[in-house]
Amino acid sequence: MATINMNFQKLASGYLFPEIARRTKVWQESHQGAEVLRLGIGNTTEALPPAVCDAMKEKIEKLSDRATYSGYGDEQGDTALREALVRYYQRYGVELKSTEFFISDGAKSDAANIQDLFSSENVVAIQDPAYPVYVDSNVVAGRTGLFNKEMGLYDGFVYLSSNEENGFIPSPPEQKVDLIYLCSPNNPTGAVATHAQLKAFVDYAIKHKSIIIFDSAYSEYITEEGYPRSIYEVEGAKRCAIEINSFSKFSGFTGVRLGWTIVPEELECEDAPSGLLNSMWNRRQSTFFNGASNIAQSGGIAALEGDGYDQSRALVEYYLENARIIREGLEKIGLTVYGGVNSPYIWAKTPNGMDSWEFFDILLDKCHVVVTPGGGFGPAGASFVRVSSYGHRENVMKAMAQIEENLQV
Ligand SMILES: *Cc1c(COP(=O)(O)O)cnc(C)c1O
Repeated sequence: MATINMNFQKLASGYLFPEIARRTKVWQESHQGAEVLRLGIGNTTEALPPAVCDAMKEKIEKLSDRATYSGYGDEQGDTALREALVRYYQRYGVELKSTEFFISDGAKSDAANIQDLFSSENVVAIQDPAYPVYVDSNVVAGRTGLFNKEMGLYDGFVYLSSNEENGFIPSPPEQKVDLIYLCSPNNPTGAVATHAQLKAFVDYAIKHKSIIIFDSAYSEYITEEGYPRSIYEVEGAKRCAIEINSFSKFSGFTGVRLGWTIVPEELECEDAPSGLLNSMWNRRQSTFFNGASNIAQSGGIAALEGDGYDQSRALVEYYLENARIIREGLEKIGLTVYGGVNSPYIWAKTPNGMDSWEFFDILLDKCHVVVTPGGGFGPAGASFVRVSSYGHRENVMKAMAQIEENLQV
C-alpha cells in the first residue's frame, strides 16, 4: 500500500504565478484585443550574449563529431568551469577551491535540494517575504507544522520580518535556529545587505553552530560600493555558510539552465566537523544528479571572462536601466518605492495600505499592467507589489506611460 507524503497537503494553495496567470486570462477574456504589459514574473527577455552563443555553438559542433563527442561529464561540473568560477570570486577577494564548487542546472533546484543535508528536526528561519522555494522545500521535508491561514504563516518556521523599519534586511533572530535562508540582493524586496548586516548573521551562525543558506542570484546587480557580492567576503562565513548562485539573471540563462552551489570545506555544524558537509553534498550530487548540460557549461565558461563577461554586464545594465525608469515613474505618481538600484526588482508600497492583490487588480484593470502581489511572498509583503524590470525597453516605457496616465495616488 503506497501512501503519500502528507507534507504536500500542508502547502498553501495555489502557487503565486499560476494565480497571476489566471487573473490575467480572465481579464483578457473580457477585454478582447487589449494589450497586457507584463512586469510580473522575473524572467529575462533579452538575447543571450553573442560570445556565450558562440561558445555553445562550438560545443554543439564538437558534439556532432565522434572524435570530439563527450557524454556524461563529472557530476560536480566541468573542471574548466569550476576553475573559471574560482577566478571570478578572486576578483572580490574571495579564495575558494574548485572542489568547493558544485555546478547545477540552476539555483532554484539547489535551493530546494540543499535541505537534504540537514536533519528534519532543524528549525528553519526565513525572511518574510521570501522566494517561495525556501519555504516549500522545507514544508515538504516535514520541518513545519500546518499552514496557519489566519496569519498566512507556517507553524514551526521562524519568520524574520523584512519591513520598512529595518530597510527590508532583518537582524538575526532572538532565539536559536539551525538553518537560515538569506537572499541578497533580495527577491522580492530589492534590498541588499551591508557587510555589517551579513556579519551579524555570520557571528550568530558561528555562535549557534547554525548554517546560513545564502542566495546571491542577483549579485551582479549590485552597483553601489560597499555591498558584499558573496557572503564569503565576510570573515568566518566559510565556517557557516553555503552560497547558491546562477547564470540566469547575470547572463540570461533562465532557459539555458546553469547555476552553482559552494559548500566550503571549512563548513561545519553541531555534529559535522569541517569537510563532512562538502563530502555529503558531493555524495548527494553524484548519486541524484548527472551533471548540468555540457552545452550550457560551455556557455557559462564564456560568460565569466572576456567578451562574454562584458556582454553579460551589458545585459545587467540594460535591466538596471529599466529598473531606473520604473522606479522614477512610480515615484512620480506618488508611490513609495524601494529597491531597483542594486536589484532588478522595485518593491512598491500600495496606496493607503491597500491589499496587494487589490492593487494588482487595479493596475491590471486601469493600466493593463501585470505586477506581482507582494502578499504572494509572505504576509510582510501584503501591502507591496513587486515590479520587475525584466522586459523589452519599449514595453517598460509603454507600461510606465500607462501607469502615469491612468493611476493617481
Ligand atoms: C531567479 C532566481 C534564482 C535563479 O534560479 P535558476 O534556477 O538558477 O534560474 C535563484 N534565486 C532567486 C531568489 C531568484 O529570484
